[in-house]
Amino acid sequence: MELLDGKKTSLEIQNELGAKVNKLVKKGKTPPHLAAILVGEDGASRTYVNAKVKACENIGFKSTLHKLNADVSQSELLKLIDTLNRDNSIDGFIVQLPLPKHIDDNKITLAINPKKDVDGFHPENVGKMTLGLPTFLPATPNGIMELLKRYNIETEGKNTVVIGRSSIVGTPMSILMSRKSNPGNSTVTLAHSKTQNLKDICLKADILIAAIGLPEFVTSEMVKPNAVVIDVGIHRIEDDSKKNGFRLIGDVKFDEVSSICSFISPVPGGVGPMTIASLLMNTYSACNGRD
Ligand code: NAP
Repeated sequence: MELLDGKKTSLEIQNELGAKVNKLVKKGKTPPHLAAILVGEDGASRTYVNAKVKACENIGFKSTLHKLNADVSQSELLKLIDTLNRDNSIDGFIVQLPLPKHIDDNKITLAINPKKDVDGFHPENVGKMTLGLPTFLPATPNGIMELLKRYNIETEGKNTVVIGRSSIVGTPMSILMSRKSNPGNSTVTLAHSKTQNLKDICLKADILIAAIGLPEFVTSEMVKPNAVVIDVGIHRIEDDSKKNGFRLIGDVKFDEVSSICSFISPVPGGVGPMTIASLLMNTYSACNGRD
C-alpha cells in the first residue's frame, strides 16, 4: 500500500504557486487576494478558515478574514458579500460552511459573483463544470483530482464508486470522474443513503471515494483488494493523550482498509490539505483573469 500524501502534495503545489506569485510581484503586479467569511464560533470551521488564511500568507497571497457573529442576519451577510463582489482588490472569496440554520445557504451561494466564486459552488460554475468548460472547480473534488493526477493513478475505464451525493463533495466528484479527461473517463456510481447493496457496489470499485460523514464507515469487507481509496471524511474524536484533547479520523477504517488497498489517502494529511491547495489554485486563476 502507498499513501496518497495530501500534505506533501499540497506543499508542492503551494511552492509552485509561491514561485508564480514572486514573478507577478516582480513585474509590479499585486499578489492574488483571497477573502474569507466565517460566521459563528464553530471550532472546526475556525480551524479550516485559519488554515486557508495561513496558507495564503505562506505563499505570498494577500488574505482578509471577516468574522461575523453567529446571530448575524442574512441581509447583513448578503451586504458583506455585495461589498466583496464590488471590491476590485479582491480576486476571490469564500463563505465557510456550514452556516447557522437561520441563513439560507443557497441564497448566499447565488449572491457570490461567479467570477470570484473560488469555492466553485455557484450554479454558473457548477454548470460549466458539468459541461467541461473552464471554470473554478469545487475545491475538495478538484483537490482529489489533483492528488490522483500527481500520483499517476489510472482512472480511465475504471469503476469509480463515490459514496455521498452532497453538492460540495460527492456530486461534483462523480461528475469530474466521469468527464472526458485525465483523471476522469471513469465509469461512476454515485451511492447515497438510499442505495441498496452498498457493500456489493463498493466491492466492484477500482477507485472508492468515501464522502459520507460517518466515522470509519468503510470497512475492509467493502473494499476490493488493490483498490484506490480516497477518504474525504473528517471527524474529531476525543483523545486524552492529545494536547488539544482530540484526534482526527475519516470515513474509512484506515487500519483495516490500508492493509488491502493499493493506495489510500490518510486522515489527517490526505484530502484536507488538497482542498486548501485547490482553493489557492482557483484564487491564482481568478487573479490571472483580472480585467
Ligand atoms: P453531507 O452533506 O452530510 O453528505 C453525506 C452524504 O452521505 C449524503 O449524500 C448521504 O446520503 C450519504 N450517506 C449518509 N449515510 C449514508 C449511508 N449509511 N450509506 C450511504 N450513504 C450515506 O456530507 P459532506 O459535506 O459531503 O461531507 C462528507 C464528509 O467529508 C464529512 O465528514 C465532512 O466533514 C468531510 N469533508 C471534508 C472536506 C475536506 O476538505 N477534507 C471537505 C468537505 C467535507 P443522502 O444524500 O441520501 O442523505
